[in-house]
Amino acid sequence: MPLIIQKYGGTSVGSIDRINIVSERIAATYQAGNRLVVVVSAMTGETDRLLNLARQITLSPNQRETDMLISSGERVTSSLLAMALQNRGIPAQSFTGRQVGILTDNAHTQARIEQISADRLKDALAREIVPVVAGFQGINQVSDVTTLGRGGSDTTAVALAAALKADLCEIFTDVEGVYTTDPNVVSSARRLQKISYEEMLEMASLGAKVLHTRSVAFAMNYQIPVRVRSSFSDGEGTLVTEEDHEMEQEPVSGITCDKNQAKVTLIGVPDQPGIASKIFEALSRENMNVDMIIQNVGQEGLTDLSFTVPRGNADQAKEILSKLADAVGIKDVVLTERIAKVSIVGVGMRSHSGVAAKMFSRLAAEGINIMMISTSEIKISCVIHSKYTELAVRTLHEAFELGMKPTPNRKKT
Ligand code: ADP
Ligand code: ASP
Ligand code: MG
Repeated sequence: MPLIIQKYGGTSVGSIDRINIVSERIAATYQAGNRLVVVVSAMTGETDRLLNLARQITLSPNQRETDMLISSGERVTSSLLAMALQNRGIPAQSFTGRQVGILTDNAHTQARIEQISADRLKDALAREIVPVVAGFQGINQVSDVTTLGRGGSDTTAVALAAALKADLCEIFTDVEGVYTTDPNVVSSARRLQKISYEEMLEMASLGAKVLHTRSVAFAMNYQIPVRVRSSFSDGEGTLVTEEDHEMEQEPVSGITCDKNQAKVTLIGVPDQPGIASKIFEALSRENMNVDMIIQNVGQEGLTDLSFTVPRGNADQAKEILSKLADAVGIKDVVLTERIAKVSIVGVGMRSHSGVAAKMFSRLAAEGINIMMISTSEIKISCVIHSKYTELAVRTLHEAFELGMKPTPNRKKT
């Protein structure tokens, strides 16, 4: 009997009506003769609501307590959905992350899954029960609740698919699949029938929130086919799978943007061996995630150095480097918050030339200044002023002809 993991996101379980509708789909999948594990998010807006409650008590809530708080949203939906399924005569049972044996590291609010025992899930499946698992959560070695980072229920689903060797993982959301860019930003965005793991990993990590980045990494490592679909329709969605020849035909598959970054510039840095290592060691000691780095050509023994960090860490990065400035001889530390990273992604870039030139010239034609550039084999990212984000995404989407092709006019006969 095939084993399918179905994950339903926040909008898909955002009300009692929606929970009832979703239970109908689950019941149909079960009655069609599949074994099924369901993973749920919190109702839409619930995690933000809970975080906001914490903020009314303190601006820097304890991370362990934050995890206890925000993991509760998924617990609510898992039990409500189990009840809705039982109402339909489906033998369902809700489970927390802990009950299904999801063990994570100790990084509260950003934990990584280390191990899944899944014994209770196997047992439930053997008894033809439909387990409804609260996504986004696990426990650390001392049994404290941890959460997997915003959007982390996708990762719960794919990780369970890997642990249970499922045949398919379906991610049900509020759009019809993975698009060439966010369809809520660019109305001409086109749904992709399939996308390679590698491209999806880049798109997710560069800002396409339709899948949590780590869920794609799990899918790629364990070769789990993932289908992203809408819970509001019967559309076939997008298959995330192995790269194939068809995918390499176009140079660019998708455009993403990330407004969640900030730029730190160090002015007047001594141009000597060992300085960069001192700077980045100081940041890594505080687990700071540094992304793009640019160093200018040195002049008269001094240089400037810029890099990006997640916006939430920007003040801390500035503080760390301001403390280091005197010891290392850095003249000034400047923070620029209003930036965005716009990226183009595609496995076809490996075999097409002129892609970067086209990206830069189209941005220039719109008067958009590029502050930083980084590339890999299958992506090019540019940091620009955040006020140009939507314009840049739309311009590049058009330049690489990613939109829906207009239907050709029929010839009158
Ligand atoms: P869920 O609550 O179901 O997990 P999310 O809000 O996390 O849903 O992700 C779905 C959203 O991702 C869509 O509503 C869409 O605005 C956004 N999105 C961003 N980039 C893309 C893309 N390339 N394709 C599809 N959706 C995208
Ligand atoms: N509820 C969590 C969030 O809002 C996890 C998820 O929805 O995947 O980020
Ligand atoms: Mg999500």
